[in-house]
Amino acid sequence: MLERLGLRTVGDLFFHLPRAYEDLNDVRSIALLSEDSIQTVRGEVVEIDGRELNDGRTIVRVVLCDDGKNCLEGVWFNRPFASKQFRYGQRLAFSGKPKWYRDHWQMNNPRVQILDGNATSDPGVVPVYPLTEDLRPEHLRALLRASLDAHAPHLIEVLPEALRRKHDWPTADRALRDIHFPSTLEAATRGRRRFVYEEFLILQLALALRRREVREEGRAPILTTTPAIDARIRRLFPFRLTADQDRAVADLCRDLSCDKPMQRLLQADVGAGKTAVAVYALLTTVANKHQAALMAPTEVLARQHARTLDRYLAHSRVRRLLLTGALTAAQRRDALKALAAGDIDLVVGTQALVQDDVRFAKLGLVVIDEQHKFGVHQRARFRRLGVDPHYLVLTATPIPRTVALTVFGDLDVSLVRQSPPGRQPVATRWEPEGQRQRVYARLCEGMKQGRQAYLVCPLVEESASLDVKSAIQTHAELAEGPFRDFRVGLLHGRQDEETKAKVMDDFRSRKLDLLVCTSVIEVGVDVPNATMMVIEHAERFGLSQLHQLRGRIGRGETAGQCFLFANPSGDEGRQRLRVFLRTTDGFALAEEDMRLRGIGEFFGTRQHGIGELRVGNLIADADLLREARKDAFALVAEDAALRRPEHAALRTLVLERYGQSLDLAEIG
Ligand code: ADP
Ligand code: MG
Repeated sequence: MLERLGLRTVGDLFFHLPRAYEDLNDVRSIALLSEDSIQTVRGEVVEIDGRELNDGRTIVRVVLCDDGKNCLEGVWFNRPFASKQFRYGQRLAFSGKPKWYRDHWQMNNPRVQILDGNATSDPGVVPVYPLTEDLRPEHLRALLRASLDAHAPHLIEVLPEALRRKHDWPTADRALRDIHFPSTLEAATRGRRRFVYEEFLILQLALALRRREVREEGRAPILTTTPAIDARIRRLFPFRLTADQDRAVADLCRDLSCDKPMQRLLQADVGAGKTAVAVYALLTTVANKHQAALMAPTEVLARQHARTLDRYLAHSRVRRLLLTGALTAAQRRDALKALAAGDIDLVVGTQALVQDDVRFAKLGLVVIDEQHKFGVHQRARFRRLGVDPHYLVLTATPIPRTVALTVFGDLDVSLVRQSPPGRQPVATRWEPEGQRQRVYARLCEGMKQGRQAYLVCPLVEESASLDVKSAIQTHAELAEGPFRDFRVGLLHGRQDEETKAKVMDDFRSRKLDLLVCTSVIEVGVDVPNATMMVIEHAERFGLSQLHQLRGRIGRGETAGQCFLFANPSGDEGRQRLRVFLRTTDGFALAEEDMRLRGIGEFFGTRQHGIGELRVGNLIADADLLREARKDAFALVAEDAALRRPEHAALRTLVLERYGQSLDLAEIG
């Protein structure tokens, strides 16, 4: 039974935390009961009654009378033996939510305590556990009681005395008892928070150690930006960098000019112009006679970046390479040879860049674009290629601060909030189905004036089980029907890379007016002439995803228009869409998304090599995360490899949990 709950060891059992508590301390006389919360009453049994109902169920009723001579009826269904447990005149406490039924108070399935003369003892706070059917709470409590008594006193105290005193945390033993057998709700909460803090502390220590390791032990090439280099790079852009872009450039020039590897995260809202900042860093590296790599999450994006660089570097001698999964074996072999020989200065690619056989002659910088899924772990992998390059990570989506502190917790952050000048805001409307023809007419009008549009569907193909518009069918219908006078393309994730590349090229070069697509265009695609978008079944996308989609339009000087069709089923879905209509600030949307959905898939920590949090919650426990981070970084500054005896237990845990995933070789 325990195994079904994933509980194999005593430790597992200790950390099988209650999902809630019932506070039975709210003891009232029956005359003062109210309807909406759990309360406890005490009294004497004056009536016991068990019988079978017409429908075959059994009902047991026990009536308690308290000192004020008021009565309350406890009711149990289908517990035929319950009546045997009680006797007349017995003193009991019932806890539960009282209901006023006809002319008296009633409680369904109350929790019962037998009061043995000492009626003033407090019934306490009762934990409620996630349980399976056959494991009853009293079994679990008995097991916990026995295990705690036998083993909790021998727990190794992980938190150093100094930190424990600083926050006034209970010992591990005390905290566990307070969690499972609390006297008050405050004690239970405090016990839990102690372990949340401990969990965050260990994570932040791992990040601090990794950061230190890379920065202190790592050696990276010194890449300097002379005024001449700066001028040469800026001349390539057809625009002036915004103040925010300039600040980010200054940050990274400072980092690059040190022999410690840069570890920087560039956070910017969609369309704010991350690419230009990245290009600046890449070209600085090349100007310093080192190789630079730009890694994108998809072929489409890798090609787009290659094309952008081609445009900027049309008249330069920078030797460039596009390395993706689309190369033939022979092409790939030649490409790798050139890279290893140092005959390539600048390589753009997909994940193909991190494969084991890729060698660089003189890698100076790695830029990782649009990768919220490319966390600490994967960066560690790059390092195993035998070099210490500088790193610049560009994020696809504004990330809530607490998530940035964990997933990207070992990085420095540059923020670009401001959009390039001349941008028009995108107008977003949620259209009723009845307006569909009008929306189509608006698209036609826009396309006649030479603008382009996206129509986004949630699925590639029709699904038998879901009544949801698919890209393939929608494309067929629209190309024949309302948009037959226009050139309509189709782009989705199941096409091969060549087809995808061709469709994107056609759309970019305006050989297509309308692109029916799935969310493959979600990230990074940059076609400024596309200013209109329809999103079908918008309820099926997360807020951050919607924001990314909308970020495809409104990149030029014409105001974008975004039309949503949606049938959200619940309140939460409707609320999410309303938030989306109200604001275009990606940072605000990301926070809201996290609040509404929880950390979820999107911001999950698992894919980042950080593992699941067992106790803590990045939203609810944000304050503890910040405390733990401060303490962890201070601790590592003092005791760089956690060698002091009072840190031994921490060190062991850090290595156990993160040694491998974060590649903490030096302290191992
Ligand atoms: P993202 O941050 O979403 O990756 P991009 O780098 O794709 O954004 O830039 C979005 C668009 O803005 C591109 O078309 C780019 O050429 C343009 N852009 C970037 N910086 C500026 C600037 N300072 N002034 C004008 N346009 C800019
Ligand atoms: Mg981009």
